Amino acid sequence: GGGGRPYSSKCRPRYRDGTSLGMVFDFFKKASTDASEQMSAFATGLAKTRNQLLYGLEDSLASLYDGRGGAGGGNLLDKLEDTLLQADIGLATTEDVLSEARFLREESTEIFGRDDVRALLRGKLLEALGASAGEGRASCDYVRVRARAGSAGASSSGGGSGGVEGTEEGDGVGGGRGSFALRFAGEGDARPISASRPLTVYLVMGANGMGKTTTIGKLAYRLRNEAGKRVLLAACDTFRAGAVAQLEQWASRSGVDCHSPSENTNGPSAVLYGALDRAIDGGYDVLLVDTSGRLSNNDALTAELVKMKRVIQKRMSTKFDENIKPVPNADVPHETLLVIDAAQGRIALDSAKQWDKELGLTGLILTKLDGSAKGGSVVAVSRELGLPVKLVGVGEGIEDLKDFDPESFVDGLLGIGIAGGGTTTKSEGKALASRLNQMRKERNERAKVTVKKVQASSPPKIVAGGKMAIPGNLDSTVPENLNTNDVEFAVSVGGGVARGKPKNKKKKKGKR
Ligand code: GDP
Repeated sequence: GGGGRPYSSKCRPRYRDGTSLGMVFDFFKKASTDASEQMSAFATGLAKTRNQLLYGLEDSLASLYDGRGGAGGGNLLDKLEDTLLQADIGLATTEDVLSEARFLREESTEIFGRDDVRALLRGKLLEALGASAGEGRASCDYVRVRARAGSAGASSSGGGSGGVEGTEEGDGVGGGRGSFALRFAGEGDARPISASRPLTVYLVMGANGMGKTTTIGKLAYRLRNEAGKRVLLAACDTFRAGAVAQLEQWASRSGVDCHSPSENTNGPSAVLYGALDRAIDGGYDVLLVDTSGRLSNNDALTAELVKMKRVIQKRMSTKFDENIKPVPNADVPHETLLVIDAAQGRIALDSAKQWDKELGLTGLILTKLDGSAKGGSVVAVSRELGLPVKLVGVGEGIEDLKDFDPESFVDGLLGIGIAGGGTTTKSEGKALASRLNQMRKERNERAKVTVKKVQASSPPKIVAGGKMAIPGNLDSTVPENLNTNDVEFAVSVGGGVARGKPKNKKKKKGKR
């Protein structure tokens, strides 16, 4: 360990030839530094988004103190709203942040400090990504591809560093929907008829140009080099000129095999059938299926993808029915992954929703996080689709596909700890998590007083020393030495949603 230097993201060459033996050894050697590599990958990849976001955040905070806050100018929450929307965090999450901010401070004597805002943002962004900001959570597993693949198969690699089996998401062979970890076939799973060993199948889809082929190549590289898996690629994008050749090139770069169309079998499903046969007969561990990114129209493409999924379920059948016909295996593909360019997340949403409905997506891969100032869209897309982000692309190089760790990602966005580009340890994130817990606890304590004091019919308002805290203007007018026994509290979230935004979020309080 300790030799992270030559591989730091900053000086990493754009393309790497993954076939040299030295590379493979170096890869294992640096495994123990993966955790910080992972975080610095986010630090680098998210730099543009972070800089923009932090500038906005500082500006928001400054407005608290320099007189711009309050009646005339924009206040903290107004500015915060602008900042979050500009970073493409999305309306829903932005509104959640604002309403919990109001909720937390409604009856408080304290104004928001920098770390209060950061703690709240961190917690809300994690929630939007489907993760929790719990304090007790084991620190993140940055090496899930290796760990998961290693624990499910018979591979002897992956030991010695970053042992993450048994972590929250890395356990068993669960994975699938809702989990951030990739799902692999387990030793104990029912085998496809005629298969001598488990086979994991991933169906990978995405519109042209999103980075699908590149992502498959990078993933193959990781599976082979981190987990010692035998990987076969299925070149089923038979419609785009050059797609097969591009995938073959990635296969050789990654040191894995590729099953390509031949003269007789040239439709996507025919190629897929051949690839499944070859993977099962040849004892491969993982089959990564590339798909078309474009057909005459989206419905035609969806129909093609649905057909491919059925082909996989049929060929991976584990048992016969009473008529001795193979029963389709509903447990496969192990992952149905959608690749989305982070900068274009919004545009990709419609087809993503259609595919999710018809195919049942299990996770997202967001690419090109490095190139854009729109890293926040990861939050919006994941929330909108209700799907976990499993992997992220942070560059064009073969090593630039990282496990998606929500905490590192959010810290990278908000400039927290190493993931945020700093030199401090990860404990800064922990400190902010406990700060948020503390704020929520204090708020709940006040709410308890309220329940005692307030009649159910009371209108929601705050009366403290005859003054009312103005929601949104957190430079509160509530006296410092507030005696809770003398004060009448109201539970409801007060105040409107800033500047004419839809108010239907008001009912969703930040209570949990
Ligand atoms: P496909 O049409 O979806 O298969 O897209 P490709 O895999 O051909 O990728 C399209 C372009 O995006 C290529 O130039 C890739 O090098 C580039 N690309 C893919 N992933 C990333 C990434 O994470 N970061 C950057 N900067 N470029 C990427």
